[in-house]
Amino acid sequence: MSSKAKAILKKYPLCSRCLERQVRLKAKYPTDTKECFICGNFFEHINDVVKTVATALNEYEFQTFSIGLSAPNEWIEKEDMIRSEFKLRGVRNIKSEASHALTLELSRVLNKRLDRFDPDVVAIVDVVSRDVKVLAKSVYLFGRYTKSKRGLPQKQPRCKVCRGRGCPECGYTGKEKQMSVEQLLSQRLLNIFKGSKVTFSWCGSEDEQSLVLGEGRPFYVEVHNPKKRNLPSLNLPFKLGFGVKLKQLTLLAAKPEKMPSFRSEVFARVLFQSKPDKKKLKEASALLERSEIYQASLSKRKTYVKKIYLFKIRVVGCKGFIRFICDGGLSIKRFLTGAGEPITPNLPSLLGVNIDLDEHKPFDILDVMLEGF
Ligand SMILES: [Zn+2]
Ligand SMILES: [Zn+2]
Repeated sequence: MSSKAKAILKKYPLCSRCLERQVRLKAKYPTDTKECFICGNFFEHINDVVKTVATALNEYEFQTFSIGLSAPNEWIEKEDMIRSEFKLRGVRNIKSEASHALTLELSRVLNKRLDRFDPDVVAIVDVVSRDVKVLAKSVYLFGRYTKSKRGLPQKQPRCKVCRGRGCPECGYTGKEKQMSVEQLLSQRLLNIFKGSKVTFSWCGSEDEQSLVLGEGRPFYVEVHNPKKRNLPSLNLPFKLGFGVKLKQLTLLAAKPEKMPSFRSEVFARVLFQSKPDKKKLKEASALLERSEIYQASLSKRKTYVKKIYLFKIRVVGCKGFIRFICDGGLSIKRFLTGAGEPITPNLPSLLGVNIDLDEHKPFDILDVMLEGF
């Protein structure tokens, strides 16, 4: 043993790993029974820590992992004190050595690979309390659903008490307890992936009274903190209840970069306040066949241009049946009734009559076509 090592040990009891780190050589000396001044014998008990972490990770499916160590500040403070007192320049500090040793041993025990940058799971280990918190990387999926019964909202309504912030009334979910397409899909996905919550990005939206037909409405979903990462084979279409079917569900390799553009094919039922003029009907149909609609958003101080690609209208008395194809994001209700924020042209202004949507069957989504997908 070097004289420096001897001098250190004379003053501070250190375990062999904590001594080796200071003097940069293998320090052969009988293991001291005293508690290491720096690490409090962390390395001696490392197998217990490994066991605790492995148990916490037991219920998670993963290929790669990393460790986050929450170590007491005094570890570093004590080591720095010794280093300055004996004028030492250690290569590695106690925290990084502890986490290196833990990772190495875990990798061996679990037979999984360390990935520092994009691991499937991160185990945050508190050295003092031995608490282990696991954070799993989200899984992303693409799916489509159809809806064959009216009366179910697409999105989960926000809690009326807290307006989405979370309160005792809603069990801190920020949402109403009512059933919805979102709720049905969430339940299923949480059941499969055992995650903590799900976040949807929908390709468009429909009315509570709308049907969604054809190949169904596409959506992206993020499952947060999932315990499972693999999608079992589902017999598709999969019935979710309330007339909702899952038509497609695909696991994505990564978070989608942006939402794709899409077009919707819509069938709407409208009520004219008075029978529209035949000539005006003809002109409006011809104009709308391939037209641009300017849709203002006052809150965003922006006007969006949405195209209509096909427009067919059949009038029976004061009722109108309209089939059209439009860009995703066109507000169907505003376009057909002229209600709400400015939208031009809109159907009532072209026909010169007031228009309401059929209350019970306003419009159905016949299909949603994704572009470049
Ligand atoms: Zn030590
Ligand atoms: Zn609430």
